[in-house]
Amino acid sequence: MSLKRSHSLHLLLLFFICFVSAIRAYTDEDDRTRKTLEEFSGYPSHDSHSCGSDPTVSSLSVNKETLQKQIDELSTFSDTPAPSVTRILYTEKDVLARRYIKNTMAMSGLTVREDDVGNLFGRWDGYEPELGAVGTGSHVDAIPYSGKYDGVVGVLGAIESINVLRRSGFKPKRSLEVILFTSEEPTRFGISCLGSRLLAGSQTLANALKGTFDAQNISFFDAARSAGYTNDKEELSSVFLKKGSYSAFVELHIEQGPILEEEGIDIGIVTAIAAPASVKVDFEGNGGHAGAVLMPNRNDAGLAAAELALGVEKHVLESGSIDTVGTVGVLDLHPGAINSIPSKAHLEIDTRDIDEARRNNVIEKVHKSALAIAEKRKVKLSEFKIVNQDPPALCDESIIMSMEAASKELELTYKKMISRAYHDSLFMARVSPMGMIFIPCYKGYSHKPEEYASIENIANGVKVLALTLAKLSLQ
Ligand SMILES: [Zn+2]
Repeated sequence: MSLKRSHSLHLLLLFFICFVSAIRAYTDEDDRTRKTLEEFSGYPSHDSHSCGSDPTVSSLSVNKETLQKQIDELSTFSDTPAPSVTRILYTEKDVLARRYIKNTMAMSGLTVREDDVGNLFGRWDGYEPELGAVGTGSHVDAIPYSGKYDGVVGVLGAIESINVLRRSGFKPKRSLEVILFTSEEPTRFGISCLGSRLLAGSQTLANALKGTFDAQNISFFDAARSAGYTNDKEELSSVFLKKGSYSAFVELHIEQGPILEEEGIDIGIVTAIAAPASVKVDFEGNGGHAGAVLMPNRNDAGLAAAELALGVEKHVLESGSIDTVGTVGVLDLHPGAINSIPSKAHLEIDTRDIDEARRNNVIEKVHKSALAIAEKRKVKLSEFKIVNQDPPALCDESIIMSMEAASKELELTYKKMISRAYHDSLFMARVSPMGMIFIPCYKGYSHKPEEYASIENIANGVKVLALTLAKLSLQ
């Protein structure tokens, strides 16, 4: 049989199945069953999705009360008093929070598994489970004295989006999978997005972790073991995702900025995630008495650092793009006395962009300036070290279209925007097409106890996520 003929037969068969189930949907008996189900569950149920169509918008209902209760309950697993939340990787509170999420996943009928560093997966098998899954998720670790929404909305909200789809009667074609990423925050071991970097296959990180210790001198693997993740070989390649594991990944997150709230917009559709590069610089000159050494005879390391700090600003502005930013967040002078010429200066520079080449060009220009300044001021550029240089990520065009379509169907206002903070999605983008949904948060506050997102805004995000997952699952 020719391919074309087989294809048309398939289409005919599909049409027939749809036709029959459409008739069935209108029988009185089914109507009665549906009514009973709706009364029993408290949610509208639809059975018109058996042919692989999107769930209807009116069938998507978020259980706001339960979701808020879960967010509140999860926030009690904290090492500091409410309203602040402190939940550090592999501590007792982190383990309890993970257990809570595992239970919540199981209650939603998801099949739960964990990898060797504690990335946690809850899977809803699709009717074509051999296809790459559609992933969604975020993190639940929290830096000291932060809030209860960062990351959490993208984990509990993702589980609720699965519940929303189940209640609507939707049947996924590709499996849907909720992921809790290990250690998005760098608090304990100084490494951000630890879990997602490993999922993306970072052998460099897997090797580095063998020699990684926290401030109390506890090794990464001892800490992991204490949380129940046994890995005696200290070999992490099992964590790396196999190619094609995911056909798409979408993360729901609070904006952590003020734009959506200020403009009264429901949903932010992220088009790109900016990525930072950080550089450490050291100048060494000659110190001396602030009164005795005359100006022509000085080799002032502090002035070299000051000139370089202005150079960073100049080179960033020269890029001509509003998306290029640069910050000198650390500037230490030695010995740091009012009557002593600085003999050493240390700078730490953070520069970010959504365009990798443009950002790296800034770093190159800063390096050239550092060399020129050292020569002119007769100081030594003893270090110019690029500490990290992660590539930024663009969101996938077809995922952006799905998120837009979902927002429109739900009659929610939306705006395309850039994520200037980075997330696990930045690393998931290395192994899967990626997208992010933002919701407004109070005054853009994040990483502090005042962090807040209303349950209405969260529910909007959950609905857009649910509908987007449904669309991507059928692709
Ligand atoms: Zn986060």
